[in-house]
Amino acid sequence: MHQPGPHAEPNRRTIAPVRRHCGAILHNLQAGLLVGAVLLAWVSAARAFDATLDSGDAKLHVYVEDARFELPYGRIVAWVQRSSDVVSDYFGGFPVEEAYVAVTGQPGKGVMNGIALGSGEAVVNVKLGLDTDERDLSNDWVLVHELIHLAFPKVHTRHHWAEEGLAVYVESVARVQAGMIDAETLWMHFVDGMPNGLPQEGDRGLDNTPTWGRTYWGGALFYLLADIEIIRRTGGDKTLKNGLRAIVGEGYSIRDSLEIRHIYRIADRATGVPVLLETYESMADHPASVDLVLLWRRLGVERTVSGVVFHENAEWAGVRTKISAGKNAKNMAKFSKNTISISQRRRNLVMGNDGDRIERAVAIYPGTR
Ligand SMILES: [Zn+2]
Repeated sequence: MHQPGPHAEPNRRTIAPVRRHCGAILHNLQAGLLVGAVLLAWVSAARAFDATLDSGDAKLHVYVEDARFELPYGRIVAWVQRSSDVVSDYFGGFPVEEAYVAVTGQPGKGVMNGIALGSGEAVVNVKLGLDTDERDLSNDWVLVHELIHLAFPKVHTRHHWAEEGLAVYVESVARVQAGMIDAETLWMHFVDGMPNGLPQEGDRGLDNTPTWGRTYWGGALFYLLADIEIIRRTGGDKTLKNGLRAIVGEGYSIRDSLEIRHIYRIADRATGVPVLLETYESMADHPASVDLVLLWRRLGVERTVSGVVFHENAEWAGVRTKISAGKNAKNMAKFSKNTISISQRRRNLVMGNDGDRIERAVAIYPGTR
């Protein structure tokens, strides 16, 4: 049984096969079958309900399956709108001119699963629990994660960490910047999650170690380090966001296939510092371990039993603020940090079919699912 949570069985987690909770890239048969399922869902969904939303300058065509959702369709569509707007705000516009979002139902509660596709049209499909309530939707990160995939071109399979890490990292940062979560939640999430991304024995660098931990959290750590370095070298003038906006600004998206160095070169040009390329060269083929204890200390983040506290006199406190400065979080109260309820929920959830997926959701936002 998988033991979820950042502190449990780190070794087992990192040697586990890659769990593709979403398929930004289709490299194998499994993914091919998934496309079939998506298209099938599409056909049935198309009959049920559709809406066209504006986000940035983009059109989003939303299909909601005619399933027995507890929530009215309008609330589901509003959630798609909200999630899209978070992504548009971060990238300075929605990453593609036109996208299709299909929401299909399945038994359960919460946002179960998602996939982003870019072969042809930009498509995101999410599976939504029939018993999902408004609170689940306000706490959801899955749809934002999938929509962020639309902003990054397809790369070779060995760089899958670059796609997933980006979605993991930017999803958190974009939501805090949009005021959907608070800075404490973001840093607690990073302090708890990033150890999963550290190299284990035998690691051969991000490009050659396709474990779950290295793909999702190793990738997220890559972008966190890059973001910090960009902010430091530019004196806070630029962030990773400026680089990522440039990629989208040049018209690239999940619909394109690009060489990874080419993508990072575009971003580096925009920030004026070659941080992404340098970070890539240092982490792609080498374990490049990171002293996370030192990193959190420099950023002035201290993990406590119930959350984190910030130290404003820390060396890089200003960098931390730059990353997680957001609008006033209105939903703060919704993020309970009660660890007792987390363990209870974990026990219940990992028994389900979507154990892996839900497990991660619980690990990321404790107490909310
Ligand atoms: Zn993903």
